[in-house]
Amino acid sequence: MNDFASRIIQGATGDWEMVIGLEVHAQVISNAKLFSGAATAFGAEPNSQVSLVDAAMPGMLPVINEKCVEQAVRTGLGLKARINTFSVFDRKNYFYPDLPQGYQISQYLQPVVGEGIITIDLPDGESREIGITRLHLEQDAGKSLHDQDPNSTYIDLNRSGVALMEIVSEPDMRSPEEAGAYLRKLRTILRYLGTCDGNMEEGSMRADVNVSVRRPGEEFGTRCEIKNVNSIRFVQQAIVYEAQRQVDILEEGGSIDQETRLFDANTGVTRSMRSKEEAHDYRYFPDPDLLPLTFTQEWVDSLMDTLPELPDAKKQRFIDDLGLPAYDAGVLVAEKETADFYEQVAEGRDAKIAANWVMGEFFSALNASSGDITQPPVSAGNLGGLIDLITDGTISGRIAKQVFEAMVESGKDAGTIVEEKGLKQVSDTGAIEAQVDEILAANGDKVEEYRGGKDKLFGFFVGQVMKATQGKANPKVVNEILRKKLDG
Ligand code: ADP
Ligand code: MG
Repeated sequence: MNDFASRIIQGATGDWEMVIGLEVHAQVISNAKLFSGAATAFGAEPNSQVSLVDAAMPGMLPVINEKCVEQAVRTGLGLKARINTFSVFDRKNYFYPDLPQGYQISQYLQPVVGEGIITIDLPDGESREIGITRLHLEQDAGKSLHDQDPNSTYIDLNRSGVALMEIVSEPDMRSPEEAGAYLRKLRTILRYLGTCDGNMEEGSMRADVNVSVRRPGEEFGTRCEIKNVNSIRFVQQAIVYEAQRQVDILEEGGSIDQETRLFDANTGVTRSMRSKEEAHDYRYFPDPDLLPLTFTQEWVDSLMDTLPELPDAKKQRFIDDLGLPAYDAGVLVAEKETADFYEQVAEGRDAKIAANWVMGEFFSALNASSGDITQPPVSAGNLGGLIDLITDGTISGRIAKQVFEAMVESGKDAGTIVEEKGLKQVSDTGAIEAQVDEILAANGDKVEEYRGGKDKLFGFFVGQVMKATQGKANPKVVNEILRKKLDG
């Protein structure tokens, strides 16, 4: 990600700094929609999950889904945010073919969640806090399908009315790299909480990217907003392109028009979509069909008790209690399932050896297979068993890699493979000594060179003995015997 690391753009007339704020739409995990009982499952037949409310039939009234409110509040708690026990749903009025109501029910001046914080982890090991401005609940619109017929556009209302959390950040990010770290961290938190699956390909998490540039230390410049970007990489590419575009304009003495732009993933450029709409254009007003949303602090407290250990706390525990380096801890907590798998492997074993195996051999095998840790190529129990055999000296670390490969292939446990293939480490001094004698006898010239001062040859002798024993000799014993015979 180094190509995204730069915080500063060097222009012909001096340095510029990027300023970035993100608005993320996260689809709430719930069985039913925000104001109707229709199902929310992804990939269903078009228009098979549409209630009369979602289709905006006359006289239909919205009824709030408590589960969605609960998910929003739990997310707010996970973002260490202020929870507003009184909030209001507003109508945001605009026409769009896939919005049958002619307005979106959203929250404007009084959202359910206020200011919070996300701590982002940067590759240099630094952390930074990014402010959350607010989180509000709103309905998703339907979807226009332009590719089903050459002459018509079809509308699929399955998504119409699905609950979204719009999570708005402060303009606190200063590089594409930070924006990427923010989105990754937000996604991790949402997944830990089980409030959004964070699946950007399926559209359940999408970002509006606000970008401006300024001279370092000066006031914020005018921003452009790039709508609906659906991958972290595209977000970063869009920022790079957009910031440079603005710098080029400003350097030539021009000024930035505040506007809404689109990112074209094929060409990597942003294009103007429309001039920026203002809040008053939407004629926001409290939805007369809905009472203000109120709940008690006791209910909020009871939800607090349902929160799992979140990634920051887990990472700190891996560092403090297990003694893992910050880097390892960060990698292992990035997905909750990975952290759970690791903890099973490490249980009762050396935490660092377990981390090395999970992040090394295991991750490569996982990537080469399904990539899905809930279907691991080697079970946590079996990987733990392999580590036990290394720790108690039954096999060497080198042989262990061979055993691991056989485990992936056969699904058998380490003990069985070691037994079947006769891979037990030889620590028997007599057997190793005989082997050493043979090697030294066969390499008389090298022995002389070594004794004449060519120290480096020691490694050659070790290698020869290991080769002759097919890697099974205990390397520590081999070293000791060689030292004795060559130096003694
Ligand atoms: P709107 O709702 O009209 O899009 P907001 O004031 O709610 O406007 O801001 C939306 C997003 O724009 C926020 O994420 C905020 O951090 C970001 N933002 C505001 N000012 C700037 C700026 N000068 N440069 C970059 N991002 C900005
Ligand atoms: Mg906006």
